[in-house]
Amino acid sequence: MKVYNLRCNDDHRFEGWFSSEDDFVSQSAQRQIACPLCGNSSITKLPSAPRLNLSGAQAPVAAAVDRQQEQWLNMARELIANTEDVGTQFAEEARRMHYNEVAQRNIRGVTTADERDALGEEGIDVLPFLIPNVLKQSLQ
Ligand SMILES: [Zn+2]
Repeated sequence: MKVYNLRCNDDHRFEGWFSSEDDFVSQSAQRQIACPLCGNSSITKLPSAPRLNLSGAQAPVAAAVDRQQEQWLNMARELIANTEDVGTQFAEEARRMHYNEVAQRNIRGVTTADERDALGEEGIDVLPFLIPNVLKQSLQ
């Protein structure tokens, strides 16, 4: 594991953790490293400073944001923003839409495994998607 001191174009300093130098180089080349403060992906590696010199200096802000997780969070946010939460009524609502008893719309909610199986047997597609806990908390 390598820890690098990184700097974005806006001069925010942060730490990035990588499995190797090659890992850093390839993530950097593909702009997968983003500043945790502003999201800027123009990242420069600073000469690594000895840890002992950090006392009194500003502590590293945060580890580099895991790009994949960020994209997943964005997708989940979008899903939440564009769907109606019907909670435990999900199976019922999905069925009513399938049989055109109510207008089609995007819904999200929870189903039991049995409900999901029953929907599947009726030809109703349900996309399983686990909403990250952090987003669940911010929804309450
Ligand atoms: Zn920045």
